[in-house]
Amino acid sequence: MARQPIRSSSDEAPDDQGRSFHLSQTRVSGVTGSSSSEEKVIIVGGAVVGSFVAYFLQEMGFGGQIQIVERDPTYRFSSTALSAASIRTQFGCRVNVRMSLFGAEFFRNIKDRFGPDADIGFHENGYLILGAPTDAEARTASLAMQRAEGAEILALDSDQLLARFPWLNVEDVGLGTFGARNEGWFDAWSLLSLIRSRVRSRGGEYILRKSSRFSSPAGASGASNSRTGELSAPTVASLPRGLSRGGSCGIWG
Ligand SMILES: Cc1cc2nc3c(=O)[nH]c(=O)nc-3n(C[C@H](O)[C@H](O)[C@H](O)COP(=O)(O)OP(=O)(O)OC[C@H]3O[C@@H](n4cnc5c(N)ncnc54)[C@H](O)[C@@H]3O)c2cc1C
Repeated sequence: MARQPIRSSSDEAPDDQGRSFHLSQTRVSGVTGSSSSEEKVIIVGGAVVGSFVAYFLQEMGFGGQIQIVERDPTYRFSSTALSAASIRTQFGCRVNVRMSLFGAEFFRNIKDRFGPDADIGFHENGYLILGAPTDAEARTASLAMQRAEGAEILALDSDQLLARFPWLNVEDVGLGTFGARNEGWFDAWSLLSLIRSRVRSRGGEYILRKSSRFSSPAGASGASNSRTGELSAPTVASLPRGLSRGGSCGIWG
């Protein structure tokens, strides 16, 4: 497998600082059709991000071995298990909007991917975000960007807010925005269980171990030493602390 970053050839979204992010859709260079059963990837951290990395590698045709190293099979301290598991599309940054739209569509069509019994309890019910009159201009600009990306956000003045939410005090409110679609909540544990089980059924291996050191020898095709318990692979994805720390959104949105 060529050592190229996993990226989509179809899409690119700039963030607020002008950096580009490639959002994977379905076509991936460096993985699709080019991996052999000799290839190996080790993923450290087997909660939602690590498991989804494994899932999408398999979806995209990676044919090699995938090992996911997870120190705690109960996941009780993981952000995934602790999460409020809500998703929104109202962000100031394009890449976040796109990620959430992708996530919401994935959730909505979960049965298409995982069968009729798949259920993650996804309830689409929008976030209501209220702003002071002085913020209305900036919020209107954000709204235009979100809508241009495909988010379905309603803009509500105080009368419209009152009609929809009669219990609300709208005295200091300039503009309210409400996600008509692609926002809501779901059950993160059900989602994780679904992804884990699919990854395993396709040959992915969850290994109960705390990883403390990575070895990724250039050119090696991946090996494990049964005496020392050491795992090594040319590609190691380390995701044990949450991808989104310090960012403006969680993993779902
Ligand atoms: C209270 C709370 C509420 C949240 N609400 C939302 C929300 O509403 N919407 C949203 O989008 N996001 C939300 N988030 C954020 C979201 O839950 C996280 O972004 C997401 O779960 C991160 O997933 P992860 O797999 O990267 O990390 P985690 O779920 O933390 O998983 C990391 C995994 O790595 C394992 N690990 C760590 N170190 C090692 C090691 N050395 N060796 C082996 N394994 C290791 C851990 O045991 C753990 O299972 C919330 C987070 C919290 C804490």
